[in-house]
Amino acid sequence: MTTYPNIVAGQPVLSATTFESRNPATGELLGRVPQSSPEQVAQAVAAAQAAQVAWAALPDAERQAALNRVADILHAEQEHLAEWITREQGKPLGGVGPDQVPGARFEAYACEVWTRVPASLALPVEVAFEDDTRRDEVHRQPYGVVAAIAPWNWPLMIAIWQIIPALRAGNTVVIKPSEHTSIGTLEMVRLISAALPPGVLNTVTGAGEVGATLIAQPAVRKILFTGSTATGRRIAALAGERLSACTLELGGNDAAIVLPDADPAEIAMGLFWGAFLNMGQTCAAIKRLYVPDALHDAVVGALQGLAQAMPMGDGLQPGIAMGPIQNLMQFDKVVSLVESAKAGGARIVCGGEAPVGPGYFYPITLVTDIDDGAPLVDQEQFGPVLPIVRYRDLDDAVARANRLDVGLGASVWGRDADQARAVALRLQAGTVWINQHGAVHPMVPFGGLKGSGLGVEFGLEGLKSVTQTRVISLKK
Ligand code: NDP
Repeated sequence: MTTYPNIVAGQPVLSATTFESRNPATGELLGRVPQSSPEQVAQAVAAAQAAQVAWAALPDAERQAALNRVADILHAEQEHLAEWITREQGKPLGGVGPDQVPGARFEAYACEVWTRVPASLALPVEVAFEDDTRRDEVHRQPYGVVAAIAPWNWPLMIAIWQIIPALRAGNTVVIKPSEHTSIGTLEMVRLISAALPPGVLNTVTGAGEVGATLIAQPAVRKILFTGSTATGRRIAALAGERLSACTLELGGNDAAIVLPDADPAEIAMGLFWGAFLNMGQTCAAIKRLYVPDALHDAVVGALQGLAQAMPMGDGLQPGIAMGPIQNLMQFDKVVSLVESAKAGGARIVCGGEAPVGPGYFYPITLVTDIDDGAPLVDQEQFGPVLPIVRYRDLDDAVARANRLDVGLGASVWGRDADQARAVALRLQAGTVWINQHGAVHPMVPFGGLKGSGLGVEFGLEGLKSVTQTRVISLKK
């Protein structure tokens, strides 16, 4: 059985101990992953530190060219990487076009796009003030070594979201993939490293204390983390002690509000994928749906029709729209939230029972006759289950959407764009979409309010977030 090595200073690195990676659809053993020791974590950071000065000193056009070569590799290797994503993460291969299921091929394609766009951006020197007596220039400096901790839901795409802007700005990176999905990331880093000087991009892997050991290294000046709010808080506490900067993209519990003028048939597909993209294992996905009384049955019926039409299975097989839940921890969480909804008297419209057989499969589950306060509404399910809550009064729906201590995304669905926009402006979320949900774009800042995070990624604001400001002030 292959052990997939880490990449440190451009070289493959194995460890004394390893752990397994398994296909969540079949249980098949895919390979083994090194458990990086604390010394190896320190070595990876030292390699990044050693490479950083020369990387930052390259002419900007050369760093840009290197990242475009990374994008070329991602393009050439799209199918290979997509297959690893499906095998290890579970999402079906799918396709890239507008009518296709957004699956692993989409994720691999997005890696290329989220490389080309930051590669094309620049942060030129800005003149903040100038008169006869002085000239003040704002220069954007890299932090130095950036530590990135990536999750298991979109393992390659989110790793790229973290790696590329950091490199573009002249930082070097040590990335730790989730222990649930390490091999695909190791494969991707191995391939793209051919376009980068040794030490510019390094990996560490493991479970337990590897992430904490990584961010505690004195040379780490900036931390990028995507994952749970609980872990985000621990990372922020450590960053606070060391005064390291951090960008945290944490969980959410996104509300979608259907307005009374919406057409259920027209919005059903958008609502469905807004909730069930990647089996609901998406940070900005619809996790609570608020529907006016008058439209409730039509919306539920349309969603049920779609849920029951989506083939579920091993995503390497053709025609599969839905894969498994990625790991047992998440599977157990989903089961327990659905069981608590049943015990509380909610109605399971479809799904609600795990099938017998291999893999962490759980059916698309729609739950009605449920209200705020129920664990399935108040806690992030991060899985293929959607509670649908009736409302009578729009003000009340807005208040319910805003009542939780998280605010990553939200959405408003209706025909009258002005009315939808007016409701959107009242929602407490980093992004409020209108008639779509989760439609992130590499030029548009993305981040959470309240317990959903700190800072933003993407676009110029995201690029600035991996730099620090240095002012050069000249007396004339
Ligand atoms: P976590 O949020 O707990 O993150 C796990 C990762 O963080 C691992 O790489 C772990 O490595 C690292 N880590 C843990 N503690 C620390 C620390 N103190 N300092 C630095 N790194 C640390 O994710 P889980 O996979 O356990 O998922 C839990 C929940 O998070 C899910 O149920 C889901 O709700 C949510 N989630 C949200 C995502 C999003 O996109 N926002 C993505 C995935 C999950 P190590 O153990 O080696 O330190």
